[in-house]
Amino acid sequence: MTDLPPRTRIASHRGGTLEFGDSTPHGFRTTAAMPVDEVEFDVHPTADGAIMVHHDATLDRTTDGTGAIRDLTEAAVRAATIDYSGGQHPISLAELCDIYKDSNVTLRCEIKPGPGGVAYADFAHRVVAEIDRCGMLAKTGFTSFLVPTLDELRDLTDRPLLWLVSPPVLTQLGASAVAELAKAHGIPEIGVNVDTATETLRDHIRGAGLEFGCWAAHTADQIDHALRLGAKVFTTDRPSLAIARRDAFHTETAA
Ligand code: FE
Repeated sequence: MTDLPPRTRIASHRGGTLEFGDSTPHGFRTTAAMPVDEVEFDVHPTADGAIMVHHDATLDRTTDGTGAIRDLTEAAVRAATIDYSGGQHPISLAELCDIYKDSNVTLRCEIKPGPGGVAYADFAHRVVAEIDRCGMLAKTGFTSFLVPTLDELRDLTDRPLLWLVSPPVLTQLGASAVAELAKAHGIPEIGVNVDTATETLRDHIRGAGLEFGCWAAHTADQIDHALRLGAKVFTTDRPSLAIARRDAFHTETAA
């Protein structure tokens, strides 16, 4: 009997943006009942101390509202209507935790920077504390594009950390420096854009003792690529498609 590699995990990105709208309550509720492994979401602080689930640092691109979330009240963020959502509004981190409290789907929390790409001051510890207060910390992993944010998280929690490596960073640093930087910062896992993922890169990262995953696998070809690479996990805006492709992949490889 041969040992099969672990099944690649599927993370429903922002609650399945291309199926349910960007970071919508319906998308998160639907994801909670799907046979996926993780739900990916992004968090931002409001001016009055709330933590809201939204992708961008501003409301402008994906809602009918305007302005930076950090400059708005919780009520103002909640008043925004998410585009292509049938009239839904952003929810808080606590509400998201409540949706997943009885789900087998674990949380993949991305701590985003604010407008201009600068990390929010004094934010990571509030996110960890809020997830802990909601009783969900044991079911949560954290991701960020920002190594200093991962440094903060490493000092705050023992939960899994994943560095999202952007294509420019991968190009500028190269695979060896990415692996060395991750190890130097105690980051055990990296994720790369699926379009930059190759067998050579995967083997290099794994050879350095790190785990390897992908993000932004939204087409059947991209999903199949992540599956063939044996990525530990990939994020996708199309969780239903990813489930179907993963089922087909395992049927084919078992035949
Ligand atoms: Fe994200």
